[in-house]
Amino acid sequence: MNEERLQKVIARSGVASRRKAEQLILDGKVVVNGKKVTELGTKVTSKDEISVEGIPIEKEKLVYYVLYKPRGVISSVKDESNRKIVLDYLPEIEERIYPVGRLDYDTSGLLLLTNDGDFTNQLLHPSRRINKEYVVKTKGIPDKRGLELFKKGIRSEGETLKAVYVKIKSVDRKKNTAIVKLTLHQGKNRQVRRMFDAIHTPVMKLKREKFGFLTLEGLQPGEYRELTPQEVADLL
Ligand code: URA
Repeated sequence: MNEERLQKVIARSGVASRRKAEQLILDGKVVVNGKKVTELGTKVTSKDEISVEGIPIEKEKLVYYVLYKPRGVISSVKDESNRKIVLDYLPEIEERIYPVGRLDYDTSGLLLLTNDGDFTNQLLHPSRRINKEYVVKTKGIPDKRGLELFKKGIRSEGETLKAVYVKIKSVDRKKNTAIVKLTLHQGKNRQVRRMFDAIHTPVMKLKREKFGFLTLEGLQPGEYRELTPQEVADLL
């Protein structure tokens, strides 16, 4: 759950500037879940009911988007070294959205963004076993036994990395490359790249084509669309 400072949330709701919000807190004018709060460091989440001078502040509307993330973009909401970030592709969205999980800088494909912490936690929870489907171009042609290991689980940096489905789609013997389809339930850091490194056919290109039942249909790299309420409900 995304925690934020109380004064920041009050300021964003539009009832006061950040400085004024701090003063309101110090003056005992702010109530969180029925209790007066006078501590400036207090953290709140979207679940907390906040009122200022007896009037509940408006909560941010919950929003859900699917973005076709291009390669060469950071899956975070800011970057210290001024590289392109995913939010650059949704400039008109006013809510404070962030990615559900992440795709590497060099990975393209389907990325969800939302401001709903519950939704994020649920989708990222390992027990959910959501299919994440990738298409991979490898340097070298993976042998079948290597790929079979993916289903049993491959050890890497103290973790067992597993695929639930893997299949070679095509090979280019002249260029010594292959296209492989792979489905994961897990979502460990750089998981696909680490798995292919472990069998000595590193990833040249990686794209996430599906997240659960969601696809990139109708989207070009850099484009996004809002999820329908039915899609949101079906993901949960
Ligand atoms: N696995 C990776 O290695 N990178 C991604 O971006 C996603 C899955």
